[in-house]
Amino acid sequence: MTIDLRSDTVTKPTKAMLEAMFSAEVGDDVFGEDPTINKLEEKCAALFGMEAGLFCSSGTQTNQVAIKLHTQPGDEVICDANAHIYYYEGGGIAFNAACSIKLLNGDRGRFKAEDVVNAIRADNVHFPHTRLVAVENTHNRGGGSIYDFNELEKIAEVCRKNMLAFHLDGARIFNAIVETDKSAKDFGRIFDTISVCLSKGLGAPVGSVLLGTKEHIYKARRIRKIFGGGMRQAGYLAAAGIYALDNNIIRLKEDHLRAKKLSTILKAFPYVVEVMEPETNIIYFRLADNFSGVDFQQKLLENNIKVISLDNQVIRMVTHLDFDDQMMGRLEGVLKKVA
Ligand SMILES: *Cc1c(COP(=O)(O)O)cnc(C)c1O
Repeated sequence: MTIDLRSDTVTKPTKAMLEAMFSAEVGDDVFGEDPTINKLEEKCAALFGMEAGLFCSSGTQTNQVAIKLHTQPGDEVICDANAHIYYYEGGGIAFNAACSIKLLNGDRGRFKAEDVVNAIRADNVHFPHTRLVAVENTHNRGGGSIYDFNELEKIAEVCRKNMLAFHLDGARIFNAIVETDKSAKDFGRIFDTISVCLSKGLGAPVGSVLLGTKEHIYKARRIRKIFGGGMRQAGYLAAAGIYALDNNIIRLKEDHLRAKKLSTILKAFPYVVEVMEPETNIIYFRLADNFSGVDFQQKLLENNIKVISLDNQVIRMVTHLDFDDQMMGRLEGVLKKVA
């Protein structure tokens, strides 16, 4: 049996989730007539205390729709240099929204309110208009790092004072929520728009939801259509999302515990020189110089274990719904053998 730790997107729907999908009531969503999509959008919005939601095909789509929604061509977007919207969305900020980007260097993806203040452009014909600030929580390339909520409140205040929109890439927001005393509504209160992924740790096969005011979502629906994202009887997919929200949030804590355990195991091996302390479900670690990342990845693959090898000897492992204690035991054995 393969152990796949490349990402928390690799999970497959369980029988119960498939049954929920099979029995979903559907309609043509471009006509607004898919009851299951409508239910998912309302449910997700209510969870965050926001007015409305929009079901999209991916987290890239929700983010890109949001960026387009808040900006005009030539405006500037502020985000971290390792932000998914910048690093992993194919240059979408330029391609879809024709915006300029101001990158900040945060701590594991987390910049501060004062960094935003310093990055805002003065009103001068030479400069683009700063229009949007986007943060990511938890932060993917930051190793699943959790943003300090007080800092987010401070950034929200800077945005409010400077009339900037504030977007949350919450692909893994529930990983942050289960680890802190903050609720979904706390986040809903301080952001203009939030993107939530159903296909990461929550275990749905497809889909993300963009949340915002009714006015934002009305506009977002048109942008989604322009981006080719208007879907028809996608209620079958939304049903998986509803099931995921009902059943798979609390259990994310298990993934976090396994990630912590895994990091402890890794630290004991002499060929692991540095482990980025996992705050949630993502572990990055660096191999000793005499160990090539590609060779390490290959050796694990020969034992039916999949991980991602990045540059600079860095390996990524992500825990998820389809990784249990028994698999952890087998992984530990293989890691010993590789040494
Ligand atoms: C995965 C991810 C997304 C969206 O990815 P899709 O594959 O397009 O669904 C967005 N932001 C972050 C931080 C992610 O990790």
